[in-house]
Amino acid sequence: MGKPTGFMEYERELPADRSPEERMKDWAEFHLHFDEEKLKIQAARCMDCGIPFCHSGIMIKGMTSGCPINNLIPEWNDLIYKGLWKEAYLRLEKTSNFSEFTGRVCPAPCEGSCTVNLNDEAVTIKNIECHIIDKAFKEGWVEARMPAKRTGKKVAVVGSGPSGLACADQLNKAGHYVTVFERADRAGGLLMYGIPNMKLDKKIVQRRINLMKEAGITFVVGTEVGKDYPVEQLKQEFDAVVLCCGATMPRDLQVEGRELKGVHFAMDFLSANTKSLLDSDYQEGRYISAKGKHVVVIGGGDTGTDCVGTSIRHGCSHVAQFEILPKPPADRQEDNPWPQWPKTLLVDYGQQEAAVLYGEDPRQYCVMTKKFVGDEEGNVKEVHVVRIDWRKDENGRFVPVEIPGTEKIWKADLVLLAMGFLGPEDTVITPLNLECDARSNVNAAYGKFSTNVEGIFAAGDMRRGQSLVVWAINEGRGAARECDRYLMGDTNLPG
Ligand SMILES: Cc1cc2nc3c(=O)[nH]c(=O)nc-3n(C[C@H](O)[C@H](O)[C@H](O)COP(=O)(O)OP(=O)(O)OC[C@H]3O[C@@H](n4cnc5c(N)ncnc54)[C@H](O)[C@@H]3O)c2cc1C
Ligand code: SF4
Repeated sequence: MGKPTGFMEYERELPADRSPEERMKDWAEFHLHFDEEKLKIQAARCMDCGIPFCHSGIMIKGMTSGCPINNLIPEWNDLIYKGLWKEAYLRLEKTSNFSEFTGRVCPAPCEGSCTVNLNDEAVTIKNIECHIIDKAFKEGWVEARMPAKRTGKKVAVVGSGPSGLACADQLNKAGHYVTVFERADRAGGLLMYGIPNMKLDKKIVQRRINLMKEAGITFVVGTEVGKDYPVEQLKQEFDAVVLCCGATMPRDLQVEGRELKGVHFAMDFLSANTKSLLDSDYQEGRYISAKGKHVVVIGGGDTGTDCVGTSIRHGCSHVAQFEILPKPPADRQEDNPWPQWPKTLLVDYGQQEAAVLYGEDPRQYCVMTKKFVGDEEGNVKEVHVVRIDWRKDENGRFVPVEIPGTEKIWKADLVLLAMGFLGPEDTVITPLNLECDARSNVNAAYGKFSTNVEGIFAAGDMRRGQSLVVWAINEGRGAARECDRYLMGDTNLPG
């Protein structure tokens, strides 16, 4: 512990983000860094409590508590307090392949379970993590991870999101020849074409991919396995295969008017937006524009928030975000104690920006969409909704009940469906005869990651359903370890 009394002396402090007024005019990242003296003080708030739930990564009541990749948080806080930045980076690198991603986009379950959070505000773990890795890049400490020797074994990783990248990085370190297949024109999965640039600059994603190439990993982009590259060829050419294809089947809303022009899945909107930004700074115009439009986002989660922030940057006239669930409480409730993930109201960047522009948080809670209505040309012009109440049915399950008299019509020229994902797409599952679980994810036990077909492993969202970047990294590392064990009979790779 750097300073035993730090948690009593210092308050939690984060660097201010760029102001909403300024940042909504561009696509640059909105988080800023502290200077190192201030970070030292924040690191001094770590109690090194002896039971650090922050790095435990366990599930409590179905929610993540602590860091899923078991980052050695108290250790690096101590090193930061002593000014030992390179040593802190070396500790961080032991457990984390891509801290520059998690340091930016992780919701930080570590902070929810931080012991200081029992009766005070958590240590600013994520912000410190981000600074360690950004400084490591700046100082030139981050190098391509070359293996000491090659095994001669060939592994195909299908999908280049965080699980595929972590898996490829680990397998390459173990000396295998790794080829990553990606159907998009750029590698990175949702890091590249899901999470918008203002949350995670795509130069940061590309920088890591370039380092991985330098370390000997082959990336084959623009190639969809199961369509452009037959699965039989995959089995013949590689000694093992790890599937990291994500869970990208969007949940649809089958109501009247769904077929109208202007009703889109959120991912079609977000991925085309980033591609157009990267390809031509929007010059070729191949994206769904929200400029001058009344936008309705259906879905109150992260994807919905990214749609709000993106619409605002396009210059929309107005944006509303509908959530079917009730508004979360401001503080922890009695049935949600520490160290559980706190189920409290968060105001994210998109909501802050909408509040500045339109005078209120764009989220409407307990709202159910009944139908979309269009004009004579088939363009959406209205969304009809009703408020609901969540009541228990005869089986004790909460069900939505419409509240009479609360019907409302919202003007809408663009509707974005951001209601979550149903599971993986089926380009490789059926051709490879893979078994799926009840939620249609690929069946592979956590910790083993092997499917019902010998030599084929599955990890990330494709196995656990749409989740978090940090879980994808955890699973990619675990699948690499089990794949290495399968190929070599034993493994030195950590989980
Ligand atoms: C809009 C959005 C915002 C999010 N924001 C956050 C956030 O802020 N923080 C956070 O922690 N998590 C966030 N998430 C969740 C997080 O991005 C995912 O949990 C994570 O990316 C899953 O990683 P993955 O590697 O399993 O899959 P993915 O990232 O989905 O990558 C799968 C890749 O496989 C490719 N692929 C699929 N099939 C094939 C095939 N047959 N052949 C070749 N390639 C194929 C796909 O093109 C894709 O690139 C967000 C998700 C979305 C949708
Ligand atoms: S990866 Fe996420 S959970 Fe782990 S230390 Fe970083 S912010 Fe916390």
